[in-house]
Amino acid sequence: MPKKYHIHPKAAPLDLEYVFKFKIVRGENCINCGKCTKVCIYEAHKRRKDDPRRMADPNTVVCRNCFRCIQECPRGALEKSLEKDFAGIGGDFWKPDMLLSLWKQAEDGKVPVSGAGYRGPFTGTGFDSMWTDMSEIVRPTRDGIHGREYISTSVDLGRRLNHLVFDAEGRLVSEVPDTVDLPIPILFESPTADLSANVKEALVKAAAEIGTCIIMPAADMTPEFTEYSDSIIPCLAPAEIDTHRAVIEKARLVAIEHSDALMSDLPQVKEEIRKISHALIIIRVPAGKDVEETVLRLVHSGAEIIHIVADYCGREINGLPGSERLLKDIIRAVHLRLVEDRIRDEVTLIASGGIAMAEHVPKAMLCGADLTALDIPLMIALGARLYEKPEKQLIFPEGLAKIPVPIVTQRMVNLMGAWHSQILEVMGAMGIREARRLRGESGRAIFFEEVDRDTFGKLFGKNREAVSK
Ligand code: SF4
Ligand code: SF4
Repeated sequence: MPKKYHIHPKAAPLDLEYVFKFKIVRGENCINCGKCTKVCIYEAHKRRKDDPRRMADPNTVVCRNCFRCIQECPRGALEKSLEKDFAGIGGDFWKPDMLLSLWKQAEDGKVPVSGAGYRGPFTGTGFDSMWTDMSEIVRPTRDGIHGREYISTSVDLGRRLNHLVFDAEGRLVSEVPDTVDLPIPILFESPTADLSANVKEALVKAAAEIGTCIIMPAADMTPEFTEYSDSIIPCLAPAEIDTHRAVIEKARLVAIEHSDALMSDLPQVKEEIRKISHALIIIRVPAGKDVEETVLRLVHSGAEIIHIVADYCGREINGLPGSERLLKDIIRAVHLRLVEDRIRDEVTLIASGGIAMAEHVPKAMLCGADLTALDIPLMIALGARLYEKPEKQLIFPEGLAKIPVPIVTQRMVNLMGAWHSQILEVMGAMGIREARRLRGESGRAIFFEEVDRDTFGKLFGKNREAVSK
């Protein structure tokens, strides 16, 4: 059995200004009886450290909106109201509630619960239009976070052989390609925003702590990061290979930005890198209109790992505004094109852009990705707000640059701990014990558009006439 993988969350409060959905105010009529400290299981109410006779201000961060303290206060001293500025953070894709949920997960690494039931819609666009088949959910004691049976979230990066060849004496003849094993199907990406030194350092340290890697520009690999070389994937253009020899020498994986010239130059680029190290090469391909054909040609030219990069909301790059394909459909199209050409196992697919919640990871894998990459959720874990209009803008809270690196690191680790737990829950409920088995298992997912077509298509869709004849 593989060594049990576990992420260790630890409370890491960030003492910075943040807008929450609700605010709880303790009124003047509070008699400091302390009843609210007992009824709130999330410890939002505590006594003041400097004067335990009096109550401290309520901690809105940990509140799960159950309203119990409001109902049980003997003096009606607690008031919970909607924060008017809350609706202004986030946008159409990165919704304010999503930002708040990520922030809370970063706070303590716990799986988010609403405490008041889910009252939102049951379908939407992109990953919200697919559901996972949770028919094995009846066995919570065997599976999931607290189950007895181990669920592995490990994935491999690299080319896999379709079959092995042995000689007459039973010796392996096939040359088994190198792979890199990661304990979680998530890579970090360094965001394009201006990052303070502590955030940059924390990104690398958090990736190392949870056993994954971070894709970052090779030029950003300063000497203090050398000890983390195993966890860093330097990203560069083919023309920069010579400039970054020292970095490539120590790397397990190297990322190369795709360009038209790379299609013909790939064997030469691979050779140049091979002369420096045995690092596996990731080719980052923008998720444009013809991405499936581009990926197909790259795999036929010898690409072993492809990273499909959609925009920050998971949309096709340079698509027609409003009718861009979304990441879910892009991954499915690429995966099925590779299956059709019988070369799917020859390449690892990484998908990124719009991976905003834990559930998006298994959903992306069910669509055909081997693993995912993310950047923005790690920044939201640090209190960043993301405005989508008039254009993408990531705003960091004032004072973040002064927060010690261990706290910043722990918040990212916490977020990943919460996501790991949620991935385990989804896999346990699906009866899948190996994350590798999620890849392309679209039969274990339900797609809204397919249900809609099968149920109503014959009555209201294009096939209506055929039925009426
Ligand atoms: S229960 Fe009400 S009165 Fe008692 S300490 Fe809490 S807020 Fe104050
Ligand atoms: S509403 Fe519920 S979770 Fe929030 S502070 Fe009150 S008792 Fe705690």
